[in-house]
Amino acid sequence: MLLEVNNLAVSFGGVRALDLKHFSLEDKELRVIIGPNGAGKSTFMDILCGKTKPNTGEIRFNGKPTNGLTEVEIAKLGIGRKFQKPSVFPSLTVFDNMSIAAKMKKGVFTSLFFKASPAFTDKIHAMAKRVGLSNVLHQLAGSLSHGQKQWLEIAIVVLQDPRLLLIDEPAAGMSDKETEKTGELLLELSKQHGVIVIEHDMHFVKQIANKLVSVLVNGKLLMEGAFEEVRNDQRVIDCYLGRANAQLEILSV
Ligand code: ADP
Ligand code: MG
Repeated sequence: MLLEVNNLAVSFGGVRALDLKHFSLEDKELRVIIGPNGAGKSTFMDILCGKTKPNTGEIRFNGKPTNGLTEVEIAKLGIGRKFQKPSVFPSLTVFDNMSIAAKMKKGVFTSLFFKASPAFTDKIHAMAKRVGLSNVLHQLAGSLSHGQKQWLEIAIVVLQDPRLLLIDEPAAGMSDKETEKTGELLLELSKQHGVIVIEHDMHFVKQIANKLVSVLVNGKLLMEGAFEEVRNDQRVIDCYLGRANAQLEILSV
């Protein structure tokens, strides 16, 4: 098991944002987490990467407890997080953004004085190809489209060689075509890394959910199952009721 979580809970100002009895992920598994706004999905990722400290609970990554570790220590263990908002350096090229990431060993600079070897340059080119950015490698990151920025962010996380990738709403704001490309990329990445993806877009979830979908509601795990099982579950449909767009969406896929 790559990740094992037990009795994980956190409250903000008396409100229980997350109360997760059990969650586990196998190595090279791709898991999608869905659930209405405020369900605690991002909070769960915040805890996994050490940004938020839980009140109680145990997390084991690759057999090792991560409780009490800092974000940097957790990144070093191999948990890489891509946040919802893009955070690339806009005034550097795509190549330079990727180079900086590749020079960092899991969140920490190995050296500020670094001469790019041919192998290093090849690594950047291979990553650019993987995420579909080969033709914009020497453009400034600030000039990329929203979708391209998201792919650059994913490349930046992957270049740090994590065993587990945490990706929060990658398809938000993307066109249908970009969304589909993102799905293909995540499926490809899951051949080498464990991947947890939070997503709202049900068409996208259908595309990428090759094993299990976990449904979080009010901080609790409502159910886990294959996409079709989750999509047809009356409790899941009900918890999307009253949330107009999401409801229409879950019923249309
Ligand atoms: P989701 O990602 O599923 O939409 P979140 O994890 O962002 O949900 O939020 C879960 C709940 O926790 C919400 O009620 C949110 O307002 C609250 N919350 C999240 N982060 C914080 C924080 N840092 N401080 C206070 N409340 C928070
Ligand atoms: Mg969120």
